[in-house]
Amino acid sequence: MAAPKVAVVGAGVIGLSTALCIMETCPGCSVTVLSDQFSPNTASDVAAGILIPHTYPGTPIHTQKQWFKETFNYLFAISNSAEASEAGIHLVSGWQVFKNMPEEELPFWSDVVLGFRPMSEAELQKFPQHQFGQAFTTLKCDCPPYLLWLEKRLKATGVQMCTRKVADLWELHSEYNIVVNCVGIGAHQLVGDKKLFPVRGQVLKVHAPWVKNFIRDGDGLTYIYPGIHSVTLGGTREKDSWSLSPDPGATKHIFDRCCSLEPSLRGAQDIKVKVGLRPSRWGVRLQKEVLSQGAVKLLVVHNYGHGAGGFSMHRGTAKEAARLVGECIAALQGSSSRAKL
Ligand code: FAD
Repeated sequence: MAAPKVAVVGAGVIGLSTALCIMETCPGCSVTVLSDQFSPNTASDVAAGILIPHTYPGTPIHTQKQWFKETFNYLFAISNSAEASEAGIHLVSGWQVFKNMPEEELPFWSDVVLGFRPMSEAELQKFPQHQFGQAFTTLKCDCPPYLLWLEKRLKATGVQMCTRKVADLWELHSEYNIVVNCVGIGAHQLVGDKKLFPVRGQVLKVHAPWVKNFIRDGDGLTYIYPGIHSVTLGGTREKDSWSLSPDPGATKHIFDRCCSLEPSLRGAQDIKVKVGLRPSRWGVRLQKEVLSQGAVKLLVVHNYGHGAGGFSMHRGTAKEAARLVGECIAALQGSSSRAKL
């Protein structure tokens, strides 16, 4: 058969990284990324981009650990290369602090990040309202540069990028052999997934170059993540809110909470407010589906629903989605050679 044509729908971190993995693992196929928005207008552009996983209750822990490890190792290699600053990837050390002892003293990802250990009494003196903490080094993506870096790599390997809103996956049937669905929260409408819901997140991006360590309250709501050009202060988590408008009350509340963890932030300047919708679900939807309209079939691979952890898991889930695309290509080649007999 001719080179299989693959459409990846969505140009957030999941769509772009999935397209790249398909190019790396399925030689000979042609890939097009179709999306109604590209960077800097995706939810992925708003993210803090820190590699600290959230747990998906519907996904086995060993699978989540594998996805995280693959993502960490991939970005660690970039952070250690000449590409690091263009890709916006760097190591960052800091603390996760708890007001009460956490249920799990050793999270599943503790041996993937670097140098994970309980904080010393001396370190805890910086956080008088907290009684326990964990110190470690992880990776951080500056999200818009990372998305542009992924786009650049895709274009260099011959991937086409098209601005297009897809109203129904079937509209791609005549042009493509396989469709990969990476539309994030857009899957609520595109494939009618009612298990998918938005968790609205508001963050501040501030200029505070003296802040070098990350600080995350163990409740996950308040965090300070220094990046290359700005520091991300968070945050909010509002389930089922679809609003993309900044909330001035939340801005003040985030700033005050972050200043109580790091008082020097009172001197921060150039405060910008960003809002994004986390595509949340019980578990990531990462599976093949064969859609049928009578005798006509459309091969689809879904990869969406990464909620609060899309950056932490993206490379691992992209590799798995590319493997599923490889299975679809093998099935197509099998049926085309049977048809010739
Ligand atoms: P998106 O980035 O939303 O991309 C979806 C793409 O699909 C877009 O290009 C969109 O235009 C396109 N699309 C949608 N519908 C259609 C359609 N019908 N036709 C064509 N195109 C369509 N994760 C971490 O791991 N670490 C963090 O520190 C972190 N911080 C976060 C902070 C905030 C405030 C928020 C909101 C999220 C954070 N996340 C974090 C989560 C992370 O941002 C998401 O999990 C991730 O961005 C999801 O990526 P995505 O590509 O699935 O979705």
